[in-house]
Amino acid sequence: MKLFNTLTRKTEQFLPLNPPKVTFYSCGPTVYDYTHIGHLRTFVNNDLLKRTLEYAGFDVHHVMNITDVGHLTGDDDSGVDKLEKGAKKQNKSVWDIVQFFTEQFIQSIKRLNIVPPKELCKATDHITDMIELIQKLEKRGVTYQTDEAIYFDTSKFLNYGNLSHQKIDEKIVQARKEVYSDPNKRNPVDFALWFKCIGRFKKHVMRWKSPWGDGFPGWHIECSAMSMKYLGDTIDIHAGGIDHIPIHHENEIAQSEGATEKPFVKYWFHSAFLLVDNEKMSKSKNNFYTIDDLKNKGYDPISLRYLFLMTHYQKPLNFTWEALTAAQNGLNTLRQWAISLRDSSTRSNLYLEKLEKTVNYQKQISDAIFDNSQFPQALAVLYEMLKSNIPPVDKWDILMDFNHVSGLKLDDFHKVIIPQSVTLIAEKRNQARKRGDFDTADKLRDEISKLGFTVEDVTSGFILKK
Ligand code: AMP
Ligand code: ZN
Repeated sequence: MKLFNTLTRKTEQFLPLNPPKVTFYSCGPTVYDYTHIGHLRTFVNNDLLKRTLEYAGFDVHHVMNITDVGHLTGDDDSGVDKLEKGAKKQNKSVWDIVQFFTEQFIQSIKRLNIVPPKELCKATDHITDMIELIQKLEKRGVTYQTDEAIYFDTSKFLNYGNLSHQKIDEKIVQARKEVYSDPNKRNPVDFALWFKCIGRFKKHVMRWKSPWGDGFPGWHIECSAMSMKYLGDTIDIHAGGIDHIPIHHENEIAQSEGATEKPFVKYWFHSAFLLVDNEKMSKSKNNFYTIDDLKNKGYDPISLRYLFLMTHYQKPLNFTWEALTAAQNGLNTLRQWAISLRDSSTRSNLYLEKLEKTVNYQKQISDAIFDNSQFPQALAVLYEMLKSNIPPVDKWDILMDFNHVSGLKLDDFHKVIIPQSVTLIAEKRNQARKRGDFDTADKLRDEISKLGFTVEDVTSGFILKK
């Protein structure tokens, strides 16, 4: 199996430290707002990687954090506390906010058929681990204290900047753009390990006792503490979105390696971003979508997983409703195939020997998946295989194998399957509407309802429902 490693910028042979075990940490959500389809792209890509590793025979130990400690709006210690901001906006306590959005996150990943991590750990349950790690760093002489915080001294860590391949001077220029900076911070790229509840954080709600007085942890320290606690000093894979490369992940490396003097992570796996109509998602632009928004418009949440599968994880993905409609239709087609092949799934002696052609298709699909997660290519071969003349029982086997590694729930037979004949009538009706021929459109709608379905018009086309 091959994986692109952000650290080396190369696609490398994947060789875990202690096979068949694979230690895997992925950065989870900050639960101060809704989990949106952008977050879900990264979480699905991580899930596809995990399923692929298991498909290859590895035994994956997966840990994911939930950031329920308020960290600041700027990744670089600037700005205000995200949780307190969210709480104020919604007139709720920070604890209510955390609970509400944690549940929404768990519900969202369930709807997308994401396999839950072995440990889904909350930052607030690991404050002691973080304090111990900071004390370890203090003993090694790589920290300093100001009136406001305990900082990691980046000048003591020679490899700082290796992950993002940025020169330290470039980083300093970027860091100087901070809105607020502690006047006693020695270097703009130094980062807080612990904030004290004095000065600008005097009234901070979430606070814990510590050797440095009441305070709260900096954001980055939680991932180092939890990764090392559950998975050991050096792990095989660490995953997240590309936005985390220059600050969060760079800082995780500095803290962890600063404490242990061992490599923190062997392979760094990063997902490119999801855009909506070629723009960054934001509430003010009204292009901020959650899984419930998709469901309310009549889409099966798994259609989003299908959409993600169609674009390689390292390429940006532009979300449009047209693309989601196409993904929903693609999913329906595969489910239709599953239904029609199901009856041929009993293997007769005649088919015990697989044809060379069958073995080839199977190999092409797994080769694509094992080659740095080339799911779009695997999907193309899957369609070619379904249309080929290999025995139906072999098609069924390959389809179910793909189903397992892709998580598309193709064997969820209770899901309503829209027959191709009904989709064809709906397409004709859509054409009629577009040319203004409403008589024909109405007649075709009646035809569809006689077959037991309703058709709903949406901006991107139509949606059929039983
Ligand atoms: P956050 O709660 O902001 O820390 O995000 C949780 C995860 O989602 C991180 O791994 C982010 O990199 C990722 N993420 C956030 N926004 C997007 C987006 N628009 N597209 C892809 N991944 C994202
Ligand atoms: Zn993290």
